[in-house]
Amino acid sequence: MLASLQLALDKRQAQGLLRQRRLLDSPQAEHIVANSQPYLSFCSNDYLGLANHPKLIAAMQQAAGDSGVGSGASNLITGHHRYHDDLEKQLAKFVGLPAALLFSTGYMANIGVLGALVGRGDAIFADKLNHACLNDGSYYSLAQFNRFAHNDVAALEGLLKLSTAKHKLIAVDAVFSMDGDIAPLAEYLALCEKYDAYLYVDDAHGFGVLGEHGQGSLNHLHLKSPRIIMMATLGKAAGVAGAFVAGEQVVVDYLIQTAKSYVYSTPAPPALSATLSASINLIAQGDDLRGHLFSLIEYFKHNLHCKKWRLLPSATSIQPLLVGSNQDALALSAFLQNAGILVPAIRPPTVPQGTARLRISISAAHRLDDVKKLILAINQAETVL
Ligand SMILES: *Cc1c(COP(=O)(O)O)cnc(C)c1O
Repeated sequence: MLASLQLALDKRQAQGLLRQRRLLDSPQAEHIVANSQPYLSFCSNDYLGLANHPKLIAAMQQAAGDSGVGSGASNLITGHHRYHDDLEKQLAKFVGLPAALLFSTGYMANIGVLGALVGRGDAIFADKLNHACLNDGSYYSLAQFNRFAHNDVAALEGLLKLSTAKHKLIAVDAVFSMDGDIAPLAEYLALCEKYDAYLYVDDAHGFGVLGEHGQGSLNHLHLKSPRIIMMATLGKAAGVAGAFVAGEQVVVDYLIQTAKSYVYSTPAPPALSATLSASINLIAQGDDLRGHLFSLIEYFKHNLHCKKWRLLPSATSIQPLLVGSNQDALALSAFLQNAGILVPAIRPPTVPQGTARLRISISAAHRLDDVKKLILAINQAETVL
């Protein structure tokens, strides 16, 4: 087995697919120290710049002092601390849904929820560009797994029409993590009503950023229905770690009993929940941060004039620059890195073959000068590469 592992690694190396971890020696921020070098970073999902916020650092220190550092047992034994409970209530209220349930990570939430809500005899309908953990949750659930072309409402309707499954669940990213575009959730909800299906929305990249006060994509699109189950992660715009699922009370009650990644797992430390409560307050009061973020996004979109590579249509923090081949994407990323700017090259299988890209993520922590530097460096790369 060990020899075949080495062979597989060598093959990845030859294909330009070997991933390297950069060693970070600073807090996650717009200016970081990675591999002992200072960089301007367009790499993180910390879209509001909260991961190193003094108020949240203080909140975590204080909460560790009064609740300790570990949860000690699963939620159903003695691990469900008041800080977890308070955060769940706060999150439900914030997103305007009856109830919410915390998970340690978004990955665990998707696996646990899909595994609990559907099974043999049921069907999941999934966008082809969904995040990997929605796919894993779908396989794990044992429900029939139907995939449709990206954002293709007609293709989805075709599948729903043919389905004889007992329960039907449409599961999609709200904001696609490598494309930045928003799913046609209103159209999906209409299909749910027409075909008696439910809609599971993974809002990892919309929560904190979109919506009237950062409540996320559903609020942004003014969608509300008992057919909607929402998931959002808390390690991206919220700047900390974790995830929550929100929906009807009966859904949350059922998940508490049956979602295995909830039942059989130790919750994140209560101090994280207390920190997140402070983070949700910052998000709710973060209209200025979002205003600044969207002005940077607009500036970038209107001022990057690039012929060699195409900026994909996205109105969110995720601005993908489509390059094509793995080697070309790596070369562009390396050029920028030499100029002191970190932007990750995203390659298959994270994105489809032949669509390697730079995933530029813009944060409210960036200044206009940072974005100008990035545009200049991309333009220089265009003349050299
Ligand atoms: C990051 C991400 C997840 C996983 O969340 P974690 O909390 O990082 O495990 C799930 N879905 C989408 C769309 C994501 O981008």
